[in-house]
Amino acid sequence: MKYFLKYITIDPLVEDQYPLIRSVQGWRSWKPKKADLPLVKGPGNPRIQIIDLSELAPYDPVPGLNPVVHEGLGRVSFRVKSRGKYDYEKLRQLSVFSIALKVLHMYEGSDALGRRVEWSFGDLPLKIIIRHSKLENAQYFRKKREIRLCYFDSDNGRIYTSASPDIVAHEVAHAILDGIAPDLLDCPHYDSYAIHEAVADLTALFLSFEMDHYTDYLLDKYDGNLSKAREFGWIAEQFGAEMTDGVNDHYLRSLNNEYSFRNDWGARANESDHYEISQVLSGAIFNALILEYERESSHPEKQEQSKGLSLFIAGNKIRRMLFRGLDYMPPGEVNLFDLAYSIICADKVSFPEDEDANIRQYMLQEFIKRGVGYSNSDFEFDTNTDIQVDMIDLDLLVSDFKYLEEFIRRYKSELLIPHDEYKIKTPILNNKFRYLKNGVREKLQEIIVKVSWYEELLLEESIDDADRIFVKFGTTLVIDKIKSEVLSIQSTNRIALKDFEKNNQVINKSQFNLVKQLVEQDSTAKVQEFNSTKKNQCEYMIKDRVLLFKRNGFGLHK
Ligand SMILES: [Zn+2]
Repeated sequence: MKYFLKYITIDPLVEDQYPLIRSVQGWRSWKPKKADLPLVKGPGNPRIQIIDLSELAPYDPVPGLNPVVHEGLGRVSFRVKSRGKYDYEKLRQLSVFSIALKVLHMYEGSDALGRRVEWSFGDLPLKIIIRHSKLENAQYFRKKREIRLCYFDSDNGRIYTSASPDIVAHEVAHAILDGIAPDLLDCPHYDSYAIHEAVADLTALFLSFEMDHYTDYLLDKYDGNLSKAREFGWIAEQFGAEMTDGVNDHYLRSLNNEYSFRNDWGARANESDHYEISQVLSGAIFNALILEYERESSHPEKQEQSKGLSLFIAGNKIRRMLFRGLDYMPPGEVNLFDLAYSIICADKVSFPEDEDANIRQYMLQEFIKRGVGYSNSDFEFDTNTDIQVDMIDLDLLVSDFKYLEEFIRRYKSELLIPHDEYKIKTPILNNKFRYLKNGVREKLQEIIVKVSWYEELLLEESIDDADRIFVKFGTTLVIDKIKSEVLSIQSTNRIALKDFEKNNQVINKSQFNLVKQLVEQDSTAKVQEFNSTKKNQCEYMIKDRVLLFKRNGFGLHK
């Protein structure tokens, strides 16, 4: 049986700016995975359920699309046209479903994570609610296990966020990332939200590479010179133009930016605005992509290769680097540097031979230029460890939790775990590829083990009754299952251990003042929340930036 899906490729209202592009991509054949079937009304499947609400009171669900099975032709599709014209209500339902699936598969492919992504809320399907409410936003909520795609009115008519492929991809990416690294949402810190926003925006960019007629159009318009293509890297054009009252021209955020944490380069990001911090990361990755594309397209042996293919190849490499880095990130409270380090580390595993390291150099260069790290040596790591993987039964390590617990206990200090109260996550086993010289690739099977724990940090002066806070730390261990060797050990304790000795386990003055200031500025309720700080209830991050309070969802903008 063949499956056919259709989706919207650019915001329909900006379609007239791109006269050569049709906003709807024709039927595309889709290879479902076992987990994707059966298809049900909505559309829906065991992982994603589309729900569309009426715009008229009582705002009940409208009938969802049914898959149409053509037994004789051996195909399954959806009917989104009536009398030869698109029924936009039905088209939006199908398009959101198709894009959500596409994004999920982008993450799961053997050239990316090489494993199935689980939702953070368990085995139930993620609900994506089209026309949830009249609001200028779209949001992901873990507790409700749903994405809300809202709509609003503008001078140009009613705007549906569900009709924007960027917005749908962005929100689905939040849900996926929440499954990969749930602590980002649990640990309130500007950097963790910034990581979420950057990954979501970049996912929208990667999706646009799949919509070839859009990138072909841009490459054509700018004669292959992408650094001149202003609209390349714009996120959510139609929505952005309405939201910013034209200030941002035609986009919500641009990945083509110069945000940094430094005073001597680019535009200093506001460190209490996670959308600006996110652009330090997305800008760095986007620029590395442009550099790699330019290298690929000017390669003397690839003169015959189309610019579109060069961009596709460069895009795939960057996508792989970012997505694989996410699995290497330690659990607990991480910052932008932790992710940057994970990206470089995972890429050294994927591309062990130096020849292929150009893109890694571009990425390093960008991270340092923007102040995510300070020098190349910040990103160096060695895998010298006393963990004797060859003495371990790796099949048991994955399948027998007691065996895994024993293993962790034995190598606690190698894993930088400071005490006995730690939590081990069910290990991940993936199936990916490692890329060698001359286009050769080999199978790579990784076991990824994550351990987290809390550290009690004393405050120099107590704030009302609170004299301590709890911060979640973590270590990720990656083992090559085929070669029986340690590929990476990454811990947030790498920095913390050093700082603790120096500060005698006491938070320093400036960090303390920051907390105090925030508590003073905030409402009484928040001070009470702060006072009742307890393990697993409230967690606060006081590493190097600012403290945030727990919240539930991720929106598109402030
Ligand atoms: Zn977002």
